[in-house]
Amino acid sequence: MSTQTTDTGRTDSGTDFDAVVVGAGFSGLRMLIELRRLGLSAVAVEAGTDVGGTWYWNRYPGARTDSESWSYCFSSFPELLEEWTWKERYPKQQEVLDYQRFVADKFDLRKNIRFSTRVESASYDARSNTWSVRTDTGDTLRCTYFITGLGHLSVPHKPQFAGIDSFAGEVYVTGNWPKEPVDFAGKRVGVIGAGASAVQAIPVIAEEAAHLTVFQRTPNFVVPAQNHPLSEEQVAQIKADYPAIWQKAQSHVFGFPMSPAGRVYDDVTDEEREQVFEQGWRDGGFHYVFETFDDILIDQRSNDAASEFIRGKIRETVKDPVTAELLCPKGYPYVAKRPPAGHGYYETYNRDDVTLVDVLSDPIAEIVPGGVRTASGAEHQVDVLVFATGFDAVTGALEKIDIAGVDGRRLTDEWREGPQTYLGISNPGFPNLLFICGPQSAYANIPVVVEKVVWTLGQALERMGEQGLDRIEATPEAAAAWKAHLDEVLHMTLIPQGEKVGSWYLGANIPGKPRSPLFYFGGAGAYAQWLDGVVAKDFDGFVLSSSAEPAQVG
Ligand code: NAP
Repeated sequence: MSTQTTDTGRTDSGTDFDAVVVGAGFSGLRMLIELRRLGLSAVAVEAGTDVGGTWYWNRYPGARTDSESWSYCFSSFPELLEEWTWKERYPKQQEVLDYQRFVADKFDLRKNIRFSTRVESASYDARSNTWSVRTDTGDTLRCTYFITGLGHLSVPHKPQFAGIDSFAGEVYVTGNWPKEPVDFAGKRVGVIGAGASAVQAIPVIAEEAAHLTVFQRTPNFVVPAQNHPLSEEQVAQIKADYPAIWQKAQSHVFGFPMSPAGRVYDDVTDEEREQVFEQGWRDGGFHYVFETFDDILIDQRSNDAASEFIRGKIRETVKDPVTAELLCPKGYPYVAKRPPAGHGYYETYNRDDVTLVDVLSDPIAEIVPGGVRTASGAEHQVDVLVFATGFDAVTGALEKIDIAGVDGRRLTDEWREGPQTYLGISNPGFPNLLFICGPQSAYANIPVVVEKVVWTLGQALERMGEQGLDRIEATPEAAAAWKAHLDEVLHMTLIPQGEKVGSWYLGANIPGKPRSPLFYFGGAGAYAQWLDGVVAKDFDGFVLSSSAEPAQVG
């Protein structure tokens, strides 16, 4: 077996590595840095040919962040904050990829990463306290800690429409876009989907294609991102402000450097409310939800007002009233589905060469050689089909790996009714399987959550090293209590209403997937407090033990 990627070679315990990490995106990279700090040997296994994770695979036209660049990066290393300069408020996919390459090079991480390699299965042997991790290159990597950094959105979902293989043209999937540029010039393009990926791709594809047909099922609430390049002065200000930026982001509900609005629905008159929403619209993106009213996610009246304001903007922007009405989301609250940020999105529907097809009232029946046929029999001719149809989110990537814990228990069996983790970090019955941003972790700006989880894991592994321990596992009681808390918090919000419109937050976008909350919606700040509490209380809810002795549940 090749071990060229190891720092230290075989470990004292007879494993190949102390830790195997799956993925080399934000989570995997940050974990490798932490493992190195702890003096543990590690290898990351990455399916792509480069680092980047989500930002490696999602190269579709228009792909860029919906988080502001200055908070979409690591906070822990002053040299990274100083040396890296963002170009735009919302960086393009390539810029985020470049950032991760910069991190990998800065910390010399590539020597610990096996690229073009996919983990297929992993099984735990209790007698030796060892995970055997098998890859598609035929290797078996033996390790003590099996750590996943798979990302929330890494298994694209492509609905299996009847006749899909008969299509005579080109087919692309936003979540697995080719590296080579796709030429849309002179072609009739069909985009299936109207989520965040489609909302970014549609205006860019429309610029190039001869004609664009958008097949929309559920319309989304799209607030303009209000992107702009960053001037030298703005960059200098951001760098000077970093301590305050991180302080805010780490305590903010969704991990953004924003302060609460300090007002709720009843605090203002109807007229004042419109002015507040107008300002939120001008500020753009997530500022609209988080800096207008603090009760948008919990008070139906506040949410209705925010929703109606957006519908007003759609009707104002889109000239054809029939198209405008089709684009207006109705019957579910704003943010019950993840709201996309727009870049000239609604304006695109004013083009003569863009058609919106409502596949809610007239669903896609089949794909035919020349395009898409809907239930009514209408046929839409296209040369290129783009699937922007989402992901088997959060649990999907973990369940693609055949993971067996104590006594051969399969993770997929454990999760038949939904995931059962403690803090999205550990699943009872799977010692030393550690998730970075696993199911039921906080839903928030990813790098902020990643850093907090990696810090927590680092604290645990450090403590274990000091005490001669080598096994960590959540207790079933802690996992059950976490699920009860997660459900309680979820039902304080309007987010459960997203189930009826297929929200991926709840597993509701994938046929047959258990309907179960995939996240903790109490906020990044509250989640961080939980993790701080766990560390302060000697890893309450986990059992830390030595494989030399039988595990004791405490
Ligand atoms: P998505 O939000 O799940 O949207 C998938 C779209 O495909 C929906 O419009 C869905 O309609 C449609 N669809 C699925 N199956 C269909 C079918 N059988 N017939 C017709 N339509 C169908 O997926 P996404 O746009 O890839 O975004 C997923 C998540 O990725 C986002 O919510 C966001 O968190 C993340 N993302 C982030 C960024 C960013 O930060 N810049 C950019 C892109 C994506 P229904 O809604 O009716 O199911």
